[in-house]
Amino acid sequence: MKRGILLLCTLFVFISCKSDKQTTSNSNSIENNRPKLVVGIVVDQMRYDYLTKFYNKYGDGGFKRLMREGFQLQGIHYNYIPTYTAVGHTSIYTGATPSTHGIISNSWYDKYLKKSIYCVDDSRYKTVGAKSGGTKSPFRMLTTTISDEVKLAQNGRNKTISLSIKDRSAILPGGHTANTAYWFQGGNDGKFITSSYYREELPKWVNDFNSLNKADEYLNEVWNTYFDIDTYTESIADDNPYEGLFRGKKAPVFPYDLKELRKKNKNYSLIKKVPAGNTILVDFAEAAIVGENLGKGDATDFLAISFSSTDYVGHQFGVDSKELEDTYIRLDRDLERLLQFLDKTVGENEYTLFLTADHAAVQVPAYLNALKIPGGYFDFKEFKDFLKKKTIEHFGTYAIIENVSNFQIFFNKEELKKRKLSKKEVTEKLVDDLIDFDKVYKVVSAETMQNTNFTKGVLNSLQNGYNQKFSGDILIAPMPSTIVYPHTGSSHGSGYAYDTHVPLLFYGKGVKKGVSKQYYPITYVAPTISSLLNVSEPSGCVGKPIVEVLE
Ligand code: ZN
Ligand code: ZN
Repeated sequence: MKRGILLLCTLFVFISCKSDKQTTSNSNSIENNRPKLVVGIVVDQMRYDYLTKFYNKYGDGGFKRLMREGFQLQGIHYNYIPTYTAVGHTSIYTGATPSTHGIISNSWYDKYLKKSIYCVDDSRYKTVGAKSGGTKSPFRMLTTTISDEVKLAQNGRNKTISLSIKDRSAILPGGHTANTAYWFQGGNDGKFITSSYYREELPKWVNDFNSLNKADEYLNEVWNTYFDIDTYTESIADDNPYEGLFRGKKAPVFPYDLKELRKKNKNYSLIKKVPAGNTILVDFAEAAIVGENLGKGDATDFLAISFSSTDYVGHQFGVDSKELEDTYIRLDRDLERLLQFLDKTVGENEYTLFLTADHAAVQVPAYLNALKIPGGYFDFKEFKDFLKKKTIEHFGTYAIIENVSNFQIFFNKEELKKRKLSKKEVTEKLVDDLIDFDKVYKVVSAETMQNTNFTKGVLNSLQNGYNQKFSGDILIAPMPSTIVYPHTGSSHGSGYAYDTHVPLLFYGKGVKKGVSKQYYPITYVAPTISSLLNVSEPSGCVGKPIVEVLE
């Protein structure tokens, strides 16, 4: 009997030793099994329905390839307010919302510095590669990104490169530990630049790329539609009253003579606002892959690419314009070229890719009105006058209001104290009054945000966007399809479905083929990549992996 137990124990020890060894070799194989490169793609202002609306115009090798050979999530939404660029990029890469990651807008009123700040401005650094435009860093983002975690997991043996036309869309996805983030400096520069946060000089491959003067090449062209304009039946008339004009152009219609237009439209900055802004970014991404040997080392590299021209075109011409349709048709071809380049240089099934958007956009409210659909424009100046009138009416002074921006009101705490006014009383009175202002849908106090747990709807989105440390004392949400903007072009920022619903495609190594209609918030993107690579989730992550995507 005793002998039997001894034998059993020995056997058990033997088995557990064996399984220990197996675990070690398994974890090695997990590391060896990682893709050589992760490519994160963000398309600025891409609505989910652009995948379906323009489907028949796309080629086989771009969006359609990702949809066909990868995993398509059809129910991805932003779950906070405001749906702006810096916030969107940060939330994708951190798996957190502004309540945790701290990027509460593109620009906001800093109540400690008592001035408005821009999300990535950092005067401690200098511009590298031009005279200005590069005093930037990601220091205001308080948590790690998935790109940081990939770096940490590999003790910095890998490379992280992040690229965009917009500075914030390059800097935030690269995280705190990117080797370098690059963005495009327009005006009279026309170059990709960076900040001394990353490095003191541009590497040779970037200088070489800049000296090719590709921006000039593209700006010598005429922008015409890729296909016959009469086939663009997915969009409204080319000449319509809902589109903004380029300077020097009398009607918002094709063709656009870029060589002529650049003279009156800030020279190289014009490329940001036309499809060539996406094309030059793919050129630059290819140069980066070669110049940095991405996907060639023994660690998993990270390449973040954010296409911004889609956003500029949406703002100027609106969601339903032929200009926007053509921009996506051309982006699809650029995407095809990028995928082919990745196949050739990194190898098919050696990389993992995801594609999503930083927010979507509303259809031009004036156009919706013409179709008898409610919506409109929020007059910010009138709102401020109304607030002033009500504040003076109740408290005899406007000095207690320090700042009004981003649909938030910041109190001046010293003035409140001096006048022996309680914050609670002031808040209650103003919340009561402000709801009466035209096109205001919700007014809530910071106190409510702190003391109530909202689980759904606009109030939940406001709460996810509310950061106790940085946000204002009163928060306002406008009515559906209501924007603060000129009466032409689209915009975004709300928590309504037209701003929150975005595409999400996973593709490549470790990814199943498939489609899901399930709802997931945007915070699920980063932990899905964490799970796929078997690395830690970003420090503020609140999402979970989308299990159905993973092999
Ligand atoms: Zn954006
Ligand atoms: Zn935008």
